[in-house]
Amino acid sequence: MASIFTRILAGEIPGTFVFQGERWVALLDIRPAHPGHVLLIPREERQYLADLSGSTQAELGLHLARMTLAVKRATGCPAVNVVLNDGPEAGQEVPHAHLHVVPRWPGDHKGFRFAGAPYGNGQLATMAERLRAAWAAD
Ligand code: 5GP
Repeated sequence: MASIFTRILAGEIPGTFVFQGERWVALLDIRPAHPGHVLLIPREERQYLADLSGSTQAELGLHLARMTLAVKRATGCPAVNVVLNDGPEAGQEVPHAHLHVVPRWPGDHKGFRFAGAPYGNGQLATMAERLRAAWAAD
């Protein structure tokens, strides 16, 4: 789906790039949680991570690990969050897959914690079975 990222990737509107590779680019988020907040974006126009081609998916791990180091080195932050909002219900605003690499600082009060709740009786085992079957289906 065409989005603001399509226009940035096409050079129609400006983006501040950290790198521009054949399949992936990284640019600075325009409204950073902290300075140095980077978006890792595939050139392929797909809303969901799983819809990216195999070759694009295969490169992700290397770029992501390298970017966590780059963000730490460039900002001096001790930690980062890596976030993928994979769909609007998960908070995705821009319908073009992308990962956030967000610098984090001690006591920065940015938060990032799900309000978890324990499984009910037998539900953990049932869910594990469903996930194993779903995983095996691909
Ligand atoms: P999402 O909520 O979809 O995971 O994140 C979208 C991100 O894109 C947001 O953090 C937002 O600040 C960023 N963003 C939205 N429009 C632009 C833009 O025009 N340029 C840049 N560099 N970032 C943008």
